[in-house]
Amino acid sequence: MKESQFIWMDGKLIPWHEAKIHVLSHTLHYGNGVFEGTRAYKTDKGLAIFRLQDHTKRLLNSAKIVAIDCPYTQEELEKAQVELLRHNTFEGNVYLRPIIFLGYGVMGVYHKKAPVNVAIAAWEWGAYLGDEGLEKGIRVKTSSFVRNSIKSSFGKAKASANYLNSQMAKYEAISCGFEEALLVDDNGFVAEGSGECFFIVRDGVIITPPHDNSLESITQATVIELARSLGYEVIERRITRDEVYIADEAFFTGTAAEVTPVRELDFRIIGEGRRGPLTTLLQKTYFDVVNGRDPKFAKYLAYIQ
Ligand code: PMP
Repeated sequence: MKESQFIWMDGKLIPWHEAKIHVLSHTLHYGNGVFEGTRAYKTDKGLAIFRLQDHTKRLLNSAKIVAIDCPYTQEELEKAQVELLRHNTFEGNVYLRPIIFLGYGVMGVYHKKAPVNVAIAAWEWGAYLGDEGLEKGIRVKTSSFVRNSIKSSFGKAKASANYLNSQMAKYEAISCGFEEALLVDDNGFVAEGSGECFFIVRDGVIITPPHDNSLESITQATVIELARSLGYEVIERRITRDEVYIADEAFFTGTAAEVTPVRELDFRIIGEGRRGPLTTLLQKTYFDVVNGRDPKFAKYLAYIQ
């Protein structure tokens, strides 16, 4: 991990190595915390955070879902993220990680008496699934783990606890020689990757599952908007595992993963076994937007002055 100089913690900028918490912090034991993953890109006009408002809104919504009262407003959190980037020096693109967690003071499962802490870190982070993955596509395994059921957890919260499911799926996929996991829901329909949303292309139509069992992904929404603006039909409907095998193209989307082609699922080659033409186009369009090269989508960029 490439360290930066400061981390924002409960209203103050603190040197990276001093941003510490107590070992008896509530979240560390019982897993209730929520976080975000946001990227800032080095554009020609300086560093710009992509969809800052949407990510901050989702962070606060996540906190609401898991019944944590965040002591900061949307505006304060947006300002804090901008401040943090202003005070650190970066050479490349940046990943921001705001987290709302329960701190030190009480033990026991009941969480409402625990103090609420907020921290935001930012560091330089390259392609999540590798530069080669972005170009050539990745190999994916359908997970033996079912995506967290909506009967007992909250898919619309970016909650730390949800990531045990993601982590076990990712661990299994990597251990089996793949690069990422694809998780299906209780009923066997494709839900999402361990940290990404999923798309297929069939006969020129772009298909992505609804959010029944997955995070409301900001990158997915962006890619849908871009695809439609390019004149493509996008359908949000359920996808089965065998439909992925016979798709022309498949790709993951996420803030960290950006637009990463999937070239293989469960030893079945998808399409030509490489980044497909529509995936290539959407990836390029997405990179143009986040890097500030598309004035039509300038509204999504918060520049750090
Ligand atoms: N699903 C999961 C489980 C994720 O962790 C992420 C990454 N935040 C996504 C989907 C994609 O969401 P976004 O595009 O908003 O980053």
